[in-house]
Amino acid sequence: MAKFIFITGGVVSSLGKGIAAASLGLLLKRRGYKVLNQKFDPYLNIDPGTMNPYQHGEVFVTDDGAETDLDLGHYERFTDENLSQNSNTTAGSVYLSVLNKEREGGFHGGTVQVIPNVTDEIKRRILLPAAETNADVIITEIGGTVGDIESLPFIEAIRQLKHDAGFENCAYIHLSLLPYIKKAGALKSKPTQHSVKELQGLGIQPDIIMLRSEVPVDAAAKEKIALYCNVSSSAIIQNLNAKSIYEIPLMMEEEGLGSAVCRALSLEDPPPDLGDWRTMVRQLYCPEKKTVVALVGKYTDLRDAYHSVAEALLHAGICNRSEVVIDWVDAETLQSEADVEQRLARADGIIVPGGFGDRGVEGMILAARFARERKVPYFGVCLGMQILVVEYARQVLGLSGAHSTEMNAQTPYPVIALMPDQNGAILGGTLRLGKYECALKPDSLAAAAYRAETVWERHRHRYEFNNAFRADFERHGLRLTGINPERDLVEVVEVPEHPWMLGVQFHPEFKSRPNRAHPLFREFVGAALKAKI
Ligand code: GLN
Repeated sequence: MAKFIFITGGVVSSLGKGIAAASLGLLLKRRGYKVLNQKFDPYLNIDPGTMNPYQHGEVFVTDDGAETDLDLGHYERFTDENLSQNSNTTAGSVYLSVLNKEREGGFHGGTVQVIPNVTDEIKRRILLPAAETNADVIITEIGGTVGDIESLPFIEAIRQLKHDAGFENCAYIHLSLLPYIKKAGALKSKPTQHSVKELQGLGIQPDIIMLRSEVPVDAAAKEKIALYCNVSSSAIIQNLNAKSIYEIPLMMEEEGLGSAVCRALSLEDPPPDLGDWRTMVRQLYCPEKKTVVALVGKYTDLRDAYHSVAEALLHAGICNRSEVVIDWVDAETLQSEADVEQRLARADGIIVPGGFGDRGVEGMILAARFARERKVPYFGVCLGMQILVVEYARQVLGLSGAHSTEMNAQTPYPVIALMPDQNGAILGGTLRLGKYECALKPDSLAAAAYRAETVWERHRHRYEFNNAFRADFERHGLRLTGINPERDLVEVVEVPEHPWMLGVQFHPEFKSRPNRAHPLFREFVGAALKAKI
């Protein structure tokens, strides 16, 4: 029987519940427990797949092709467990399945209500991973803030679960804010007291309270909250700002979070094995070198849109003992070769990440040309690979006007296009999502990086390298070094006579871990460091 931990948020949003949930996952895993994190979002969108990155940051993709909240990226990076579509639920998808069931007559004419029908569906989804995996502990983060109208069914569902799953098998963690009033020189506990009261009013008594604070929380403040919120003082955990999110689990362990959770769930509490994690954080904090990577994209003022790419670059820096400074370059500002010369002069490496639509695309193509001609290491991820291919077609194959049909349906040379077997070609084609196999050419940069000839990577794209142009590209030197065997699709391309210019149709960033950088990011940053010398 699995145990369940529910994490709710109080007072304000953006307190770092996702990082707290991920950190807790790590602390329990390193005690020997199999953990699984999940996130329940109270908004009505069916999934984050179609949400604007400006509002929601990047869409994180799982092996099984679910388009999820970016918090799942934190969970995977901290716990190193591959999650699935069961790990992310929105109120929209809950209501959708309840309403579909109603339309299909599944309720046999009964009245369909938030309680019990919506709450039952939420409970079913919380319990699903427990039934499908052998997880010892399921950590469920409830998005939003306690008191929000839209999160009420979720709070009610987790309240009921204590009854369903057994009182000794459930624990509640409430993450709240402890504001510091400078003038008074004091930490204020009242908002937290109110938030806990709100939670208690909904029938939930937290077992553990985590306090986000700008300054250390002294014993007196902890004691006060313990007294007024019915929580033992050893279960009041301060959650301070850290230089890196990867230090947070270590700080949480120091504060006794892991032990408090084990106590609350009557689990044994062996010392966690965090040695390698500590080493990783030390290396992160004491880099020996520095390298500048220009990230050329269209959402550069919103870094969350490229969250996993930025994390993967950081991980690659850790294993190369280097700080990686990302220079965020708005592709739309690259209008001419002169712009590119000037803007990318400082870059040791250039990365063009994924993206949709034609905004900034010509700037990205100029950046790829600059990288190829000046022999600056270049890494193209998804759209970034397509950009590499378009640039190569125009300049090396001499196919002027070559493009992706996503950007120009009338292009004379559709080097990136929908493939005939994408029977959605007329409808626009659906996204290719989730993990697919890729066979690597043995003597390629990619195979050398992975030290493997078959890899599985995650995808989220619609357009493909157009096989009709394959021979032409190969004649002109472009190496097609990764192929999806099932559909004979080009997955990896490499530019010859260049220190490191590679594009991948998949998203390697989703599988990078702080203590196990993704091989391609590792090699890209390695090449950037070399280019610097
Ligand atoms: N827009 C491109 C496609 O759909 C690339 C997608 C991406 O970069 N994720 O094929």
